[in-house]
Amino acid sequence: MKTVIEEAREIKVVKETDVIVIGGGIAGISAAVAARRCGAEVTLIERSVCLGGLATNGLVCVYFPLDDGGGNRIFGGLTEELLHVCIKYGYNNLPDCWKVKPTPLKVDNPKNRYRSTFNIPAAVLAFDELVQTEGIDVMFDTAFASPIMEGNTVKGIFVENKSGRSAYLAKVFIDTTGDSDLLYRAGIPTETDPENIVSSWTHEINVPEFMKAYEAGGLIAAVPLRWFGLRPDVDNTNAVIPKFDGTDADGRNGYINLSRKLMLDYLKKNVRDDYCFMTYPTQIQTRMTRRLVGKKELNCKDAYAYVDSSIGCVCHCMDFPAEVYEFPYEGLYSDAVTNVLAAGRMVSAGGRGWEIMRSIPQCALTGEAAGTAAALAAAGDGNVDHVDIKELQRILVKNGNIIHCTPAMKDKTAVFNDYHKNAKATGGGALGIKIDTLSYNEEGH
Ligand SMILES: Cc1cc2nc3c(=O)[nH]c(=O)nc-3n(C[C@H](O)[C@H](O)[C@H](O)COP(=O)(O)OP(=O)(O)OC[C@H]3O[C@@H](n4cnc5c(N)ncnc54)[C@H](O)[C@@H]3O)c2cc1C
Repeated sequence: MKTVIEEAREIKVVKETDVIVIGGGIAGISAAVAARRCGAEVTLIERSVCLGGLATNGLVCVYFPLDDGGGNRIFGGLTEELLHVCIKYGYNNLPDCWKVKPTPLKVDNPKNRYRSTFNIPAAVLAFDELVQTEGIDVMFDTAFASPIMEGNTVKGIFVENKSGRSAYLAKVFIDTTGDSDLLYRAGIPTETDPENIVSSWTHEINVPEFMKAYEAGGLIAAVPLRWFGLRPDVDNTNAVIPKFDGTDADGRNGYINLSRKLMLDYLKKNVRDDYCFMTYPTQIQTRMTRRLVGKKELNCKDAYAYVDSSIGCVCHCMDFPAEVYEFPYEGLYSDAVTNVLAAGRMVSAGGRGWEIMRSIPQCALTGEAAGTAAALAAAGDGNVDHVDIKELQRILVKNGNIIHCTPAMKDKTAVFNDYHKNAKATGGGALGIKIDTLSYNEEGH
């Protein structure tokens, strides 16, 4: 392979602060707010021009439920607060019994697994308002490039933006890039999932359907999401679609090109005056790319097991009802580096655990725990392994989180969703192979 040498150069240090959060998705917003509310000075670095990540730029405007499918609320704190931020200035279909803040611990709503759809522009503006109100320094349009290491401690990061390359220094760093960009480049152990299924979303308007749907159900029904590629919860047996590695530049370009080709194929068949797409994703819609291999991992074999260092309860948001597991604080970091935490869809959870931890509520939960722990570490010696876990848990509980399973959560028999069972697809392959375009709207049409 041909290589070139990058010349050494002097780089300006733009800021020295307590906590730097890299990535402004749901996990990053939650982490930044939690750290700030614990008294830390916080800078949030975001490569796009708005907050929300997959939940806004990736069009995933569906906040999964806060309960275990048996009516037991398992999430509170910032997970509940961010749901209300998402729906603050826009439409929503949150059932009324979940609108009470905070929602009671037992809710009589177990007829279905509710989900809350939200309006993306309204959520983006409400996220801006939240971080500004909290006094968080947000740098948009700024990409993390590489860590500045001193032994096994991250002293700072290099970023790239229109001003060129610059450096930010901090006591503690939280990686919420979704893809473990900081972890990987700092040499922290990670695991990669090279087989992301193409499953892309966009909003559509079909005027005749719009009129009927608006009368019957309002804007959410009138401007439905249309999916392209594989939908993990339906039978895709006839699909022949390659999978892609979301940690590799070529893999990502393959995914992006194919997802847009599927959209174009569909649009070509529907070019008419009363039909259009309203949106397209501006963040690649990969689910699981690269995650932390932490000091501990989510154990989803022992449902309801007591975890001494638990930072919160989690469950599979599509099982109905679902088993509940406690997530360990040590699943947010590795001993390989002293002062880095992970949060969001890249925490330490393998196999089915990764599926569980990547949903929006779980991302908000781990963000809040990481932000709180980062503030505690920054006020101490900076080492995230030295955080007083009892104090961390005390703050999380004070702020409304439920860190241990209750007898009511155990009082049910879980029914597992065959999520991903039907997500058949061929491995790898260049574009141009046979593609049976699959497209669905939310009703499966
Ligand atoms: C197709 C699809 C459907 C889904 N459906 C649902 C659903 O119905 N309900 C649900 O609850 N969950 C769903 N999920 C999962 C959920 O949307 C995501 O896992 C979750 O939003 C991830 O949040 P996050 O903050 O961890 O990561 P992300 O949302 O990926 O945020 C990462 C942020 O980091 C930024 N970033 C990345 N790299 C850098 C860098 N180098 N420098 C600076 N910034 C960087 C990105 O721009 C982004 O803003 C779905 C996911 C997909 C892909």
